[in-house]
Amino acid sequence: MARIVILGAGLGGTIMAYEMKNEMRPIDDLTVVSLGTTYSFVPSNPWVAVGWRQPKDISVDVSSAFARRGIKLRPEGAKRVLPAQNLIELNDGSILDYDYLVIATGPDLAFDEVPGLGPDGHTHSICQTNHALDAKAAFEALLKAPGPIVVGAAPGASCFGPAYEFAFILDTALRRARTRDRVPMTFVTPEPYIGHLGLDGVGDTKALLESALRERHIKWITNARVMKVEPGHMIVEEVNDEGTVKSTQDLPFAFSMMLPAFRGVPAVRGIGSLTNPRGFVTIDKHQRNEAFPNVFAVGVCVAIPPVGKTPLPVGVPKTGFMIESMVTATAKNIGALLRGAAPRAVATWNAVCLADFGDQGIAFVAQPQIPPRNVNWSAQGKWVHAAKVGFERYFLHKIRQGKSETFYENFTLDLLGIKKLKDIQIEAAE
Ligand code: FAD
Repeated sequence: MARIVILGAGLGGTIMAYEMKNEMRPIDDLTVVSLGTTYSFVPSNPWVAVGWRQPKDISVDVSSAFARRGIKLRPEGAKRVLPAQNLIELNDGSILDYDYLVIATGPDLAFDEVPGLGPDGHTHSICQTNHALDAKAAFEALLKAPGPIVVGAAPGASCFGPAYEFAFILDTALRRARTRDRVPMTFVTPEPYIGHLGLDGVGDTKALLESALRERHIKWITNARVMKVEPGHMIVEEVNDEGTVKSTQDLPFAFSMMLPAFRGVPAVRGIGSLTNPRGFVTIDKHQRNEAFPNVFAVGVCVAIPPVGKTPLPVGVPKTGFMIESMVTATAKNIGALLRGAAPRAVATWNAVCLADFGDQGIAFVAQPQIPPRNVNWSAQGKWVHAAKVGFERYFLHKIRQGKSETFYENFTLDLLGIKKLKDIQIEAAE
């Protein structure tokens, strides 16, 4: 009997539990360590922030689905992983041991790296559902007293899609409320150009997103370093290609949402041979840490080097489709090890994304993630918004059911008609 522990029950950890259950042997034991029992569908947070969804619409208590599938749940959360001893210290002081560990802890939000940034400072966030709910209260206040909006991301951020999405969703919501004419909007990003997305662009994302921003009267500042945020205004340095300061701007705002840089969570950060200096878990092509080969990682907590050099730090996004490919590869690799075989599954880490504007949106496919690519495709249309709504319902339904289907592969690839985009590769046996 082997004890398998999954740390984190977000997007990666939850589907990891369902897929692991399929790949393990009946005698093996599976436990998920989470912070509470609620799974929340992060991609819908922008809709919570403008009141199009309530938190309950996008949240699932996973206890019963886990129990039905024979998955143990420890909702205390982890204080510290002790990989040299194969132990996890939980927040209540108890100790959990494992034979195999899958880390799926997502990001720690590094608001503290910019003075005044974040919900404890002067900007809002959509990274967590409770942040989005706070943002909604501020958005409602904005509707009553319209003023300028600043939306974007801090240097070192790696998740630009939701920043663009939120700017367009705000625009749509404000137009519907007939207040858009009193709300100047500025998009602030460390990306070297609009539509870079941490991927050096995908298909025509530069032109598509620039044109969408222009059409919706949203100004932008690229190569932007947020220096500090004070009540009602943000100091931003715009840098040249060599990184020297081109101008310093003082942007007033009545409402601001800025995505922070990400880093690894405290439970793993600073464990030298497990994580990189930012606290992301280093892994090989089989999703396995080299120093601790019984430890795997999936999702945003994984270390991925940036795509090329940029004047300001711009991280690589880890999106749902890519995370699912990491999950499938990890489940198959642990399944192989349990049966005395070598791990041979490799996640392809392709990026497939639907960016919603509230009334339409942009879809893109990058295969592989790093250019030059075999598939480098993007398209815009009303169907993207409809697809995102459909996907949200489909995903939450499957999470409630405890089903282990490969969500993104089945849904997104059917939708985009690109079924041949294989999600994982199995290496030939030696
Ligand atoms: P998470 O879903 O964040 O899960 C991590 C989990 O680990 C959390 O539940 C957390 O509580 C838990 N955890 C952390 N520390 C501990 C601990 N010590 N002990 C126990 N549990 C712990 N991708 C797309 O493909 N499409 C989208 O539309 C999309 N929209 C996004 C919108 C936003 C606002 C953001 C921020 C990201 C979006 N992404 C999207 C990117 C990505 O798919 C999500 O961030 C996704 O939730 C990442 O999954 P994850 O499992 O790595 O992390």
